Amino acid sequence: MTVTTRFAPSPTGRLHMGHAFSAITAHDHARARGGRFLLRIEDIDGTRSRAEHVETIVADLRWLGLAWDGDMVWQSARLDHYAAALERLRALGLLYRCYCTRAEIAEAMSAPHGAVAVYPGTCRGAPRRDAPHCWRIDMAAAVARCGDLSWTDHGGRVANEALAQGDVVLARKDAPASYHLAVTIDDAAQGVTDVVRGVDLFEATHVHRVLQALLGLPVPRWHHHALLTGADGQRLAKRHGAPTLAALREAGVDGAAVAAALRAGRLP
Ligand code: GLU
Repeated sequence: MTVTTRFAPSPTGRLHMGHAFSAITAHDHARARGGRFLLRIEDIDGTRSRAEHVETIVADLRWLGLAWDGDMVWQSARLDHYAAALERLRALGLLYRCYCTRAEIAEAMSAPHGAVAVYPGTCRGAPRRDAPHCWRIDMAAAVARCGDLSWTDHGGRVANEALAQGDVVLARKDAPASYHLAVTIDDAAQGVTDVVRGVDLFEATHVHRVLQALLGLPVPRWHHHALLTGADGQRLAKRHGAPTLAALREAGVDGAAVAAALRAGRLP
């Protein structure tokens, strides 16, 4: 099977050097194996996604010298697929409505008897109400149904630990799918064989692996890469004042030289 990787940015802001590194790593992983590199625009978040950011992403990738195969895929055009998957999971009895507001969740997670890191399942088994809700997966039930799962990261076996992720959201109040659901469906639909992305999404992979098992989807190989850090060891992100790719491009910086430096493991 042709090795296929993808870069899947959310067009909610400008790309920075960390995105460039991720895109180059995914691109080179495929090209080194005679494979395909795809571009997917993760724009299900209608309130934060902007078309102008997509144009900038395209310009940034071209500036870096990265070319992708086929047309870019827009998640906003694929909502029917997410709805169908949700329906299947609902039919398995694995989803429940969650009416909690952000404030209620924050409060529940910082309860005096010890802060918890995941949604505590407040609405699991709650009576149905006529109120805005998201859909969560009952992770304990899902894991019980799937049995032991594992996956590979850089070829090494990882035991799946989705329970620690809790009852994550699969369809949001304000969006018909969550990141977890959309990314899982799309990687399968696009024939992605190798998911190359930052290690900040390592934990999310446990969730994706469960969704693949429940929906009978193929299981890719994962290659989570380290995140770029600045001289101070801090993760490079806009909030640390790192320039965006667009700013560098507009200032006349050579994109090919930036890509070469990142490939050589140097910060340009
Ligand atoms: N859209 C996600 C992001 O921009 C990345 C998704 C992925 O690589 O799985 O953080």
